[in-house]
Amino acid sequence: MSATVIDGDKLAEELRARVTGELHIARASGARPGLATLLVGDDYASMAYDRRLRRLADRLDCPFTSERLPADVELADVQATIGKLNADPRITGILILRPMPRHVPEVELYRMLDPAKDIEAVHPANAGLLAQGRPRFIPSTPASCFYLLDAHVKSGGQNPKTWYDGKTVVLVGRSHNVGKPALWLGLERNATVVSAHKATADAGKLADFCRQADVLIVAAGVPGVVTGEMVSDGVIAVDVGINAVINPETGKNKMVGDIDFASVAARASAITPVPGGVGPITDVWLLRNTIAAAIRAHTSLSMEPWVAP
Ligand code: NAD
Repeated sequence: MSATVIDGDKLAEELRARVTGELHIARASGARPGLATLLVGDDYASMAYDRRLRRLADRLDCPFTSERLPADVELADVQATIGKLNADPRITGILILRPMPRHVPEVELYRMLDPAKDIEAVHPANAGLLAQGRPRFIPSTPASCFYLLDAHVKSGGQNPKTWYDGKTVVLVGRSHNVGKPALWLGLERNATVVSAHKATADAGKLADFCRQADVLIVAAGVPGVVTGEMVSDGVIAVDVGINAVINPETGKNKMVGDIDFASVAARASAITPVPGGVGPITDVWLLRNTIAAAIRAHTSLSMEPWVAP
């Protein structure tokens, strides 16, 4: 089987054009979107993500602030920074980058966010609304996974509103910002959703579950954790992972996903690449949520989620 490679870069290009138009409309209505990120420590993937967001925000002429704190910062100082961003009227969306150092429990930070600026829906109120199928914000990474999937389904002449009925979606990873919200989005689409994680792998059951997948979404942060022999023929594989590994040829860092691309692509019907798959859509979706937050704060109107082309 030769898999279709789902082109996230191309879809993101279209979305960047749309978000530019939405930014103009937002500004015309008096709304002033602004994005802030909070990064504690120096995780390579988080810093790369932060730089990508800054480039995109600059390109779209959207104000962007990055708060950087050292890895040994006190929890109270991180909380104070969130309080400062909550109170800043120039900021309409806040992204807490992960991973956090061990002494900074992420859930303690999530509950401090102003829910109106919580563009990743990690505050308990927003996570609850998402779980109930009436989200204030659809978090950018799982939203991007389903946007790519819906676009692929549509490209095959099928309707994403019914395509997932009876399909099995297997998620690998259950983080608050990717795996868990992806679970809710999959259930909302009528899929049967399986949530696998580290303990699933430790129990030797990961391959068993992956083989059941019609759609496999992998967000484990482990390079190549899913290989070709773990999947069934015809699977649609979505790779969320962004991992820095040393390129033996150059000695420099390169980005790889969580899926062993070559062996899974040999069996899959479709697959997303890394880079150029989920990541570019995530970035623009986050900006879009920042604009939606600004519009809601200014006009009480809400923006409909983007529908795949
Ligand atoms: P996380 O560390 O918070 O969670 C990882 C999850 O994977 C956990 O639930 C853990 O139980 C599970 N896991 C770990 N090892 C496993 C194994 N061997 N087998 C099965 N499950 C395992 O990570 P996260 O924030 O969800 O991110 C996951 C990956 O996705 C990272 O590489 C991250 O950089 C990337 N990411 C990419 C985007 C994007 O836009 N493409 C956005 C967010 C995160």
